[in-house]
Amino acid sequence: MKEHIDIIENYNNIKSSLAENIEIVAVSKFQSTEKIMTLYNLGHRNFGENYVQELIEKYNQLPKDIQWHFIGHLQSNKVKYIAPFIHLIHSVDSFKLLQEINKQALKNNRIINCLLQIHIAQEETKFGFDFNEAENLLNNPQFNQLHNIKITGLMGMATFTNNTQQIESEFLSLKNFYDKIQHHRYPNTDIKILSMGMSNDFNIAIQYGSNMVRLGTILFGERKIQNNAR
Ligand SMILES: *Cc1c(COP(=O)(O)O)cnc(C)c1O
Repeated sequence: MKEHIDIIENYNNIKSSLAENIEIVAVSKFQSTEKIMTLYNLGHRNFGENYVQELIEKYNQLPKDIQWHFIGHLQSNKVKYIAPFIHLIHSVDSFKLLQEINKQALKNNRIINCLLQIHIAQEETKFGFDFNEAENLLNNPQFNQLHNIKITGLMGMATFTNNTQQIESEFLSLKNFYDKIQHHRYPNTDIKILSMGMSNDFNIAIQYGSNMVRLGTILFGERKIQNNAR
């Protein structure tokens, strides 16, 4: 099918243009399991989803060696459904959520890797900590006790705009903060992932130090249902 040939071409073009240290998370929300399998059959294993229900359905249907990334806003009461298998949660945006992830990880006898989502955009609708809040969390004595999570880096979304300078300054601010906390050696952390860049801005994000890009539309084409949170 033409659609699937396009996906293969999109993937190969992007993959060959990126340095080897840059990981692609293929964002498959609202995309079919057939499309996911097209990339899976090329050897791709990292996929990102925004909604717990949709993720569970796909997890049940698809091969178990897929590494699932949770990138949407996560409600504490839903953590239990993904805790048994989730590979990386990009969207930790409160201490309460992190405590719940730790609790569910313990029940599953796992350590769950997490990124702190940092609010760098000017838009009000985006979730995330500001830099001070994130530092306070890492310095919180209670954070020391969360032995079943590991903070492996940061995630951020730039403002959705054509203003390249603004996007650049937002990504730069996140990279600076990333460098700062990486050198600090907090407990329960191993800071090595900077998840920034989507279809429209991943090339800029990479210039500013991203090593994980979350790509949906540019790989799979337009989503069937529009996500109102973008
Ligand atoms: C949907 C989404 C993406 C992918 O967006 P595209 O513009 O389709 O590449 C990346 N990150 C997050 C957090 C998303 O919600």
